[in-house]
Amino acid sequence: MTQVLPSPTRDAARSTAATFTGLKCKECGAEYEAKATHVCELCFGPLEVMYDYSALSKMVTRESIEAGPHSIWRYRSFLPVASENPIDVGTGMTPLLKANRLARRLGLKHLYIKNDAVNMPTLSFKDRVVSVALTRARELGFTTVSCASTGNLANSTAAIAAHAGLECCVFIPSDLEAGKVLGTLIYNPTLMAVHGNYDQVNRLCSEVANTHGWGFVNINLRPYYSEGSKTLGYEVAEQLGWKLPDHIVAPLASGSLFTKIYKGFQEFIKVGLVEEKAVRFSGAQAEGCSPIAQAFRDGRDFITPVKPSTIAKSIAIGNPADGVYAIDIANKTNGNIESVTDAEIIDGMKLLAETEGIFTETAGGTTIATLKKLVEAGKIDPNETTVAYITGNGLKTQEAVQGYIGEPLTIEPKLDSFERALERAKTLDRLEWQQVLV
Ligand SMILES: *Cc1c(COP(=O)(O)O)cnc(C)c1O
Repeated sequence: MTQVLPSPTRDAARSTAATFTGLKCKECGAEYEAKATHVCELCFGPLEVMYDYSALSKMVTRESIEAGPHSIWRYRSFLPVASENPIDVGTGMTPLLKANRLARRLGLKHLYIKNDAVNMPTLSFKDRVVSVALTRARELGFTTVSCASTGNLANSTAAIAAHAGLECCVFIPSDLEAGKVLGTLIYNPTLMAVHGNYDQVNRLCSEVANTHGWGFVNINLRPYYSEGSKTLGYEVAEQLGWKLPDHIVAPLASGSLFTKIYKGFQEFIKVGLVEEKAVRFSGAQAEGCSPIAQAFRDGRDFITPVKPSTIAKSIAIGNPADGVYAIDIANKTNGNIESVTDAEIIDGMKLLAETEGIFTETAGGTTIATLKKLVEAGKIDPNETTVAYITGNGLKTQEAVQGYIGEPLTIEPKLDSFERALERAKTLDRLEWQQVLV
């Protein structure tokens, strides 16, 4: 990497096409200019992007969106960027799959999988938030971008920074899966592997952000970054034929993604793109890091931080910034927040792979295991149109399933060797032979 220069945080020239009007504190409502800032100076609440919704409802139609690019940028006017040419690496518009075999297995009638395991360019939903954050970072004049990551964010920030020609320095806990580390290093950023958990990495990054003038996608650029997750809501609405589902299930790390799917649905209702509907929101956590699920279960409206210990490293945030907002949404939509064990997560990954041909990572296993648990507890009605959000790819967390998925049958390049192995396979009940042979 070349020398990293501190970058000034000047405000970008605002295009008249921009529909966002500034930042607003989620707690006290104080308003701020759309700069690289994320905390309210008055009450320390988180800042969120504001839009001119009356302008948006005049400007945007279903047809104008459908005529846009096949990426998140078809929703550009709902995103906090001013440039006409955002960083477009093909992020978004991932498949919404009708999951009939998984539905039958679980006892549901109308189940869909939103498959961000195949999002571009780095196979997780994080490409959405990073595409938005780096576009805004460029507008604000940053030349070096950074992040505190549980793995996928590092992959995404390094890849999209490389494409955009931005300097990149990312921070991860040092115990991440090999695929996440390699999947960052290949883009040749500066990668800092920190001896500590994500929450410690994040604290360190807050200090670096104060001293180095870098654009941290999930710290000083967090208001812009988090808006990228709204596209997971928009796409599902559009892909269901401009209708909202009855129930969604999504994983929770900081809780941001969950709250932004909600915001996305609300915005589409507000500007008249979909009919009003009370969508139920249910969240998924790994038991080994479930501060939001624990607070929900106890009926608390505050989070007690925990020390993470789970195979679901990508969602292992012990002190989740948006946890209280996630609880509020689950409560007011009559949803739930559940946690599942590591063994259930592995079963969830296998179940999704065997029924739908989707290899997800541990976060997706958490979502499927939680979906199963909620159905079994009668907390999802079989008749509800339910969407499960699969947010990452299983090739990145191979160590999680190693030893739980059998072995190949190694044979000689001879027919009799194959026949013997086939007999053995039948006794192992590896495939549904009865069904295949009749
Ligand atoms: C980051 C991440 C999430 C959740 O992120 P939030 O912090 O809750 O927005 C979910 N799944 C995967 C695979 C992730 O990498």
